[in-house]
Amino acid sequence: MFCYQCEQTSQGQGCQVIGVCGKDENTATLQDLLIHALKGVSQYAHRAGKLGASDPEIDAFVIASIFATLTNVNFDADSVAALVYEAAHIRDRARALYTAAAVKAGVAALPLSGPAAWQPAAEREALLAQGREQLIPASYLTGSLVNSDNKEIKNLEELVIYGLKGVAAYAYHALMLGSSAPAAYATVYEILSALTEPHTAEELLGLALKVGELNYSVLEQLDHAHTETFGAPTPAAVRLHPLAGKAILVSGHDLHDLYQLLLQTEGLGINIYTHGEMLPAHGYPKLKAFKHLAGNYGGAWIDQAQDFDAFPGSILMTSNCIQQPKPSYTNRLFTAGAVAWPGVEHIAGTDFAPVIAAALAAPGFAEDGPAGSITTGFGHEAVLGVAGTVIDAVKAGALRRFFLIGGCDGARSGRSYYTELAEQVPQDCIILTLACGKYRFNKQDFGTLGGLPRLLDLGQCNDAYSALKIAQALAAAFECGVNDLPLSLVLSWYEQKAVAILLTLLWMGVRNIRIGPTLPAFLSPAVLKLLNENYNLMPITTPEADLAAMLG
Ligand code: SF4
Repeated sequence: MFCYQCEQTSQGQGCQVIGVCGKDENTATLQDLLIHALKGVSQYAHRAGKLGASDPEIDAFVIASIFATLTNVNFDADSVAALVYEAAHIRDRARALYTAAAVKAGVAALPLSGPAAWQPAAEREALLAQGREQLIPASYLTGSLVNSDNKEIKNLEELVIYGLKGVAAYAYHALMLGSSAPAAYATVYEILSALTEPHTAEELLGLALKVGELNYSVLEQLDHAHTETFGAPTPAAVRLHPLAGKAILVSGHDLHDLYQLLLQTEGLGINIYTHGEMLPAHGYPKLKAFKHLAGNYGGAWIDQAQDFDAFPGSILMTSNCIQQPKPSYTNRLFTAGAVAWPGVEHIAGTDFAPVIAAALAAPGFAEDGPAGSITTGFGHEAVLGVAGTVIDAVKAGALRRFFLIGGCDGARSGRSYYTELAEQVPQDCIILTLACGKYRFNKQDFGTLGGLPRLLDLGQCNDAYSALKIAQALAAAFECGVNDLPLSLVLSWYEQKAVAILLTLLWMGVRNIRIGPTLPAFLSPAVLKLLNENYNLMPITTPEADLAAMLG
């Protein structure tokens, strides 16, 4: 295997024996093969789309399948192999769509080669052999590759694919809420299809920025889907300690799954707790209206082994990021949506009866925990609702600067940087945060500034649109560009959703972003130099030095 798509990749270079995440060689190989097969689907779907033909079934399959290859989503080789075979059927469906559209348009359907003509082997070993043909050669990283141009091109192709994986995750969640985006899917097909052709480094960088643009539109769509379904988030105090009684813990990102579970558990005497990236659910009016949405339990996804182990109820993992489960809780852990782990019961659809039965069979909490809460729910509508106060405070010099300190969390020790930075931000500055990186510091009391909390939780990584919207609105209010705002961005990255967000920021022309805790292994020195020259994108150093530079 060879995989270097996430921040925790082995030795900062690439996982070659088994993933640091727990992904085994077969699963990794089949995921690469799945991406190859999806390129074939895209070759036909893109051409069909140009002739005005589309198929929601193809769209839904491609988005869910790309999402299945994201870090910490699907660890089940059998289920990935099933997706590969299904991709071949979907590819045939896309070919028929293209052929029919061509006939209708009175043009000749072009014969396509490459992934479009690929056929999966019937036997697993032969299928794996096909997958190994798609692997990134380890020599691309070890320096033993003679042709360094090829290495550069491969790295850039992977950057584009990883960005698309992030886009697919966001598009999947929107789709679960009934919000489809045919134009976005068409761009996914266009880009995946383009990757079957040779490209220069410059062209691939252009494709990467196109992914960033695409991601902006998908984030916007997801934001609308969330707010139209559950209402715009408003600040909410979230209980941090459990109440006595039966309990279900919901982790991941999928608000639709949480909503369905809340409906199905109403009146059953079971309390529902959020974990990790589900915390911002408490800000949505339609979700917080459920009295048995009792609070948040535990920390970020990286804490799940200890949190799930100690939780005396059942646990539902609605999306990434799942870790290898401990035997102590495997029989009360359930996956849903795109998530899968061998030996863990998967809920197909949204009938959560097995999760509820497991919760009722578990002991639950014996007594109430202590009081204590944190506040979430500062989406763009809530923050911009007090924009006048904020702008006046900036103009009066009472509010010196905004720091966006957020992103995905990981296990690397250097991530204490983000805690230390947040702690050192001066009292006359406001910290905006989002995604699970906030768990490094979100239970600390940062006080208030001008009546506003100094720490504003904008939501999940899925809510990155809120940060973009706030920055754009402030820039409009101050009649300047985003780069001219008293705003510093310090991002932590872990997986491919963060890659998509970074590409969006670059597409928007945002400069001076600091990123850590390490730089992606798939960005070569030449690309990093280019990004530094064009966008002043830079790695984090120390909280003290970076803070001094940002404060000027
Ligand atoms: Fe390694 Fe990350 Fe790939 Fe898992 S997803 S195999 S940890 S690079």
